[in-house]
Amino acid sequence: MKITDSVVKLKGIGTKTAELFAKLKVNTIDDLLRFYPRNYLSYDEPCDIASAEIGRRVAIIGSINSYVDVKKIRKLILVTCMVKDGTGTVKLVWYNSPFLKNVFHIGQSFVFVGNLSIRKNQLTMEHPEYYTLKQYADMRSTMQPIYPLTKGLTNKTVIKSVKAALPLLSDIKDKVPDEIIDKFDLMSLKEAVNGVHFPDDFDNMLKCRNRLVFDEFFFFLLNMRMIREHTVKAENNYVMADLSETEKFIKELPFELTGGQRSAVEDILKDISGTTVMNRLVQGDVGSGKTVVAEAAILTAVKNGYQAAFMAPTEVLAAQHFESLTKDFEGYDVRVELLSGSTKLSEKRRIYEALSCGEIDVVVGTHALIQEKVVYNKLALVITDEQHRFGVRQRAKLSEKAVDPHVLVMSATPIPRTLAIIMYGDLDISVIKDMPANRKPIKNCVVGPKYRPTAYKFMKEQIDEGHQIYIICPMVEASENMEAENVTEYKERLMEVFPGTVNISYLHGKMSPDEKNDIMESFSKGEIDILVSTTVIEVGINNPNATVMMIENAEKFGLAQLHQLRGRVGRGDAQSYCIMLVSSESKEVMDRLDILNKSNDGFLIANEDLKLRGPGDFFGVRQSGEMLFMLGDIYNNADMLKQAKEAVDYLYNKNYPIETLISEWEAVYL
Ligand code: ADP
Ligand code: MG
Repeated sequence: MKITDSVVKLKGIGTKTAELFAKLKVNTIDDLLRFYPRNYLSYDEPCDIASAEIGRRVAIIGSINSYVDVKKIRKLILVTCMVKDGTGTVKLVWYNSPFLKNVFHIGQSFVFVGNLSIRKNQLTMEHPEYYTLKQYADMRSTMQPIYPLTKGLTNKTVIKSVKAALPLLSDIKDKVPDEIIDKFDLMSLKEAVNGVHFPDDFDNMLKCRNRLVFDEFFFFLLNMRMIREHTVKAENNYVMADLSETEKFIKELPFELTGGQRSAVEDILKDISGTTVMNRLVQGDVGSGKTVVAEAAILTAVKNGYQAAFMAPTEVLAAQHFESLTKDFEGYDVRVELLSGSTKLSEKRRIYEALSCGEIDVVVGTHALIQEKVVYNKLALVITDEQHRFGVRQRAKLSEKAVDPHVLVMSATPIPRTLAIIMYGDLDISVIKDMPANRKPIKNCVVGPKYRPTAYKFMKEQIDEGHQIYIICPMVEASENMEAENVTEYKERLMEVFPGTVNISYLHGKMSPDEKNDIMESFSKGEIDILVSTTVIEVGINNPNATVMMIENAEKFGLAQLHQLRGRVGRGDAQSYCIMLVSSESKEVMDRLDILNKSNDGFLIANEDLKLRGPGDFFGVRQSGEMLFMLGDIYNNADMLKQAKEAVDYLYNKNYPIETLISEWEAVYL
């Protein structure tokens, strides 16, 4: 067997399981080994029955205190028995597991793990897991991995499969040069991968994880460095000196540009009319008005006789930008087209044709813009919105559509300056610090589930005033190994709460691009009152009529991400509200969220968040939408990021043949 073989070759994986793995992008044994847990379960110390907390997952040591009763009720087989310790008794209930009769015998002790509830005045545990005292003691000393799952695939199956793949670990190829491994005293890749799946303890897991995070950053930064070496000194092939239309455009906007917008535009105009090519990042908080800055750049390019391409990470965003551009360029004679994955084939052909013969001035779209078939006529300006969603390679690929075009990157990720310089080392940076003047600060609150009915009542009032609402849930559908609200069931429940006149829809990443577009379009048109969604709406959506953002299980999100979500409201002149609902009101959670409660400043929030975090805080609370890395998080792993940068600098100073490493990286990470 080879590491590049399909997972089907592994013992215990049939075609059905392989298909489920394929949904998670796990095809080969190598993929499976690099399919990392998203969290770990450690088993708690068993507690006394009397002091066990109701409504939570607990472990008790109980001795069997009754015969095991097996009853058949219609199609259901009910197995029950009583267990006790010195402090109380619990009734255990299982369904359709009659064999348990032969497992439990009076007087024997087991550890039972499950949710404790009260039924008919009796402490009850339904479907508890059971272990011998020895088994449980063994499990307590290890950490159980919890994997991302898809419907039909259980955590147990993934664990079994990964275990079956482990013997092939010795074939895994370490692509980091040996001298870097020595110099930075890195753990071996084999040990790291093994330990991330099945760590000895928490410290060991952190160490293993750090090695993998190092790899992600290292190859990312190498690639960045390559691009920079290539672009930085390129001369300006597309000098755009005629700024008359741009000035008119800015003067005729329905609002005054903020100081930050104005200086970003000035920076851009100086670049593109200068002697070297532009490579610029415009960084501005959500709602700071980056789109209009992009528009000023686009208009300048077009009025100087060139084409521009504007790439957005999602179809929904691309469609939104297309609409803004069409509207804002009215009267300026600019030919704008939308090109995305879901564009009809005949339409695509027409656009390709028109682009290549220069009949289109601006094309807005998704990854579709970098397909091989797309040939531009005189592309001179390339803009990517919310860059962190794209791999560096996509940006590079778009730039390859012309000889050294001007590059503009828009980002709302509020990264501290030191990190920005590392992450975007190849770009000059313009920061928009101020917000448009008409904005009222969003009113925030952090509340427990008891507040939900009040929140619904408040929403109804807002809807009656003609406003719209977002509700965010962490998950798409119910899952075995994570307890949190999910979009599908939530919408159903909401339909029962609100009268039929309120229109409720949902949105999530597993829907087709067409479906998503339709939903976002009806939401913008005001046909949907409440949109229940996962974080897919986090990036860039602009509907100034939405005034309430409610986030369920707010404790499961990172602060920066919550801030991005919150940025979907407060985009017009009406007062907006953000309700963060937490299912745990522990001091830690409340302290963390209090930062958001008190501030609407993305930069401040990111910095505070950094200070509060310990090394174990990265599960479930990944920062922002940093999709580029599987494990690494530029905030939490800032130390690894710095180390990776040192490693890259070291290789460069030694004139190491970097190109040989980059192609490897693309194979693994893109
Ligand atoms: P983001 O920076 O998050 O991409 P957008 O460009 O989507 O923000 O802008 C958000 C909203 O603010 C839009 O409706 C836009 O028309 C409006 N806007 C932008 N600049 C200003 C300004 N200077 N004054 C008032 N409104 C503005
Ligand atoms: Mg935007």
